[in-house]
Amino acid sequence: MPSDYIILSDKFWTGTGAEIGFAAVAGGRITTVGSPAEAEPLIDAGVPVKDFASKAVLPGLWDAHVHLLYTGLALFWVDLGGAELISDIQGRLRERLKTGEDELLVGVGYDDAFLADGRMPGGADLDAVSTDRPIVIFRIDGHSLIHNEAARQYLGIDSSWEGIEVGDDGRPTGRVLARANEAVRNRIFDRTSPGFKREAYKAAAGLATRAGCAALCALEGGELFGDEDLDILQGIQPELGIHTVLYNQYPEVASSRRLGLDRIGGCILADGSIGSRTAAVLEDYADDRGNRGRLYLDNAWLKRFVAEAHEAGMQVAIHAIGERAVRQVLDAYEAALTAAPRPDHRHRVEHIELILEEDIERAARLGVVFSMQPAFEHFWGGPGNLYERRLGDRYKRTNRLGSILRAGVTLAGGSDSNITPLAPLLGIKAAVNHPTEGERLTVDEALKAFTAGAARACFAEGNYGTVEAGKSATFTVLGDHPADVPPTEIADIEVVATIVDGDEVYTIV
Ligand SMILES: [Zn+2]
Ligand SMILES: [Zn+2]
Repeated sequence: MPSDYIILSDKFWTGTGAEIGFAAVAGGRITTVGSPAEAEPLIDAGVPVKDFASKAVLPGLWDAHVHLLYTGLALFWVDLGGAELISDIQGRLRERLKTGEDELLVGVGYDDAFLADGRMPGGADLDAVSTDRPIVIFRIDGHSLIHNEAARQYLGIDSSWEGIEVGDDGRPTGRVLARANEAVRNRIFDRTSPGFKREAYKAAAGLATRAGCAALCALEGGELFGDEDLDILQGIQPELGIHTVLYNQYPEVASSRRLGLDRIGGCILADGSIGSRTAAVLEDYADDRGNRGRLYLDNAWLKRFVAEAHEAGMQVAIHAIGERAVRQVLDAYEAALTAAPRPDHRHRVEHIELILEEDIERAARLGVVFSMQPAFEHFWGGPGNLYERRLGDRYKRTNRLGSILRAGVTLAGGSDSNITPLAPLLGIKAAVNHPTEGERLTVDEALKAFTAGAARACFAEGNYGTVEAGKSATFTVLGDHPADVPPTEIADIEVVATIVDGDEVYTIV
């Protein structure tokens, strides 16, 4: 097949160790790679050239854990990130009330850990903004929210749900955690029109490719809501300009079958989050004695669900953040694998912010894939930060990337967007600069987690994750190679182009 074009660069990073100077592309695939001299006959024959000169050409960067709809919707919601006072949150919401026509006002990204008011915000703070317009604001981790009275009525929030916080006076505070948080989020999605969801998916895909992300695992749908979002995503997948692998979070094997997927799960929650103090940890929260979070899933249900999906030949993915939840999920995987051994199942655990030493070994032995978000360390790790506040000295044992990789576990890099930005370079920077020295990754290891590791986590390594002849022509082109800039500046490297299956879907002009 004649080449459509060739890519030249002095700084290819192939992910295989092979040193090359060009890659020829035809029909969306890499047909040949080789030294600069080997490119000359093609150039002489008039094949178009994309000469990136000293820009770095990498295999297309991945994000192994994205909530694409949530990410897209958040682009249209009120951004509460960086708010330092409750009045600041209120001000941003009031501003939108003046201009926006949202039936339901949603805000995202506030972080109570950074509010200087000395108290937690509650429903009354939102009632002060409006008594007739429903308002819901999500905490940065998405695992808790606050709503006003109008939203309680509009969304049918029921005070009997598990996770509705009740104050000393016996009345709901307007703060919602755990399962009730999921229920509210699903009701918001339920009231969002399919047309708006399509726009949100497209906006999120555009955000990704601008950040140099060429491929991602999209974790969509969910309990209480169903699998409709996946239908919408499947319908517009070809228009997104990014390679997407869908994960169906609705925990019914039949639902994945209906969608034609041989995988199930994502953020099926075995526990909550550290920020919301709902992750199932082994010792009390340092700032909430007596609380060790909670396991959300009934053990018998989890084992049954995993066994059924496993025996149907599916890959399973489950969210587990605290040590107790990680152990519970590994127990379920181990039981299913003992009853019905299957090589190369690649069952996934998502997040793994805390883990027992023996469970690292166990995951390696079982062949379980760990899908992790190094940017959590960037935002919450290190001395004096959120992890230390919640966990005390145990903050030194969060997100153990280095130990996990060295134990031989496949590590897939992701963002959990929109919990952290959909920006693989930020994840790579965070992994290389992990506050705990022993858990840092080298630039090569971090790049692999965000390329081959992530591709392997969804059985896509035959086509993606490295620059090799025969694979998809999917590349991320960067202003500099991440190893050639100071480690703290990796996230600032300019994304020059994102090429997906041969098409340049993003380029700076
Ligand atoms: Zn999750
Ligand atoms: Zn997630």
